[in-house]
Amino acid sequence: MKAAFTDLHRGHDPKRFVLRGKFAQGEERPERADRLTAGLQAGNHTLHPAEIFGQGPRLGVHTVDYLRFLEEAAAEWKLLADASDEVLGNVHPVRRGGTMPLSLTGRAGWYMQDMACGIGPETWIAASSATDVAVTAAEFVIEGERAAYALCRPPGHHAYRDMAGGHCFINNTAVAAQYLRSVHDRVAVLDIDIHHGNGTQAIFYDRPDVLTVSVHADPNRFYPFFWGYAHERGEGAGEGFNLNIPVAQGADNGAYVAAIEHSARTIAAFDPGVLVVALGLDASSDDPFGGAKVTAEGFRQAGAAIARMGLPTLFVQEGGYLSDSLGPNLTAVLGGFEAAA
Ligand SMILES: [Zn+2]
Repeated sequence: MKAAFTDLHRGHDPKRFVLRGKFAQGEERPERADRLTAGLQAGNHTLHPAEIFGQGPRLGVHTVDYLRFLEEAAAEWKLLADASDEVLGNVHPVRRGGTMPLSLTGRAGWYMQDMACGIGPETWIAASSATDVAVTAAEFVIEGERAAYALCRPPGHHAYRDMAGGHCFINNTAVAAQYLRSVHDRVAVLDIDIHHGNGTQAIFYDRPDVLTVSVHADPNRFYPFFWGYAHERGEGAGEGFNLNIPVAQGADNGAYVAAIEHSARTIAAFDPGVLVVALGLDASSDDPFGGAKVTAEGFRQAGAAIARMGLPTLFVQEGGYLSDSLGPNLTAVLGGFEAAA
């Protein structure tokens, strides 16, 4: 299938990630894209450089003030006395109303929900280019391709309308889904990253035109902790248009694929014109986050289950971290899809 990519992600290489109170190098590194590219080549998929669509698609789901913060924060941060080279919030207005302050430290806390989304000098170019990758691949589907793949880095599904978090800044999946709404009355999103797609859920939570479904490890003991529970069903006009299917941490191929198959009935009843798959590969048994124990065969079956939904399908890369099976698992899921499509 056609796969969109860009090399403009490479300068985004965050070095500070707080894990159990310690600073560590983040797992979201440029090498991920190299391994994913190898996975595409192994599956004989064709690589297409992203076209530039500008700010328009991003403004479909994000606020202009938040996008400006992402674009300008790193340069402004450098002017602060004794600052590191990455913007990282450490004071947050959680569960309080609060007022947006003038201080950049304060604004960083306002716009960043955790300490896994440091903004470096090239974060904006990478994150904004990733939406061009997603929209380029969405265009392939609009033009009639049965399926297309977007090699997005950084990932996006933890990003809210105006908040970064969990390695995510701009929600590529949501941007693509909103972009596809210009062509289809109803768009379904199926998130199979092992972390709940909390940003995507929140962006569409009160809307009946975009169904959001997420299969992920039980958030009681897994990021993003506060969202991803089965009782979250949407609100207002969107009530009933969000479905969470948590699986036990350590889920094997059977449990993971069954959860994806379980989502098919809800997606079919919604009758969407197109399906956007938020394709995390971090359910892998080799993934450093240890959320599940899915093998290449499990990913192949997941791809086949998605193909059987019978919809034009856009795959948007989300998580999936460094291991020798990252590339082969991408080959497996796309190959499984094509064999069953
Ligand atoms: Zn993930």
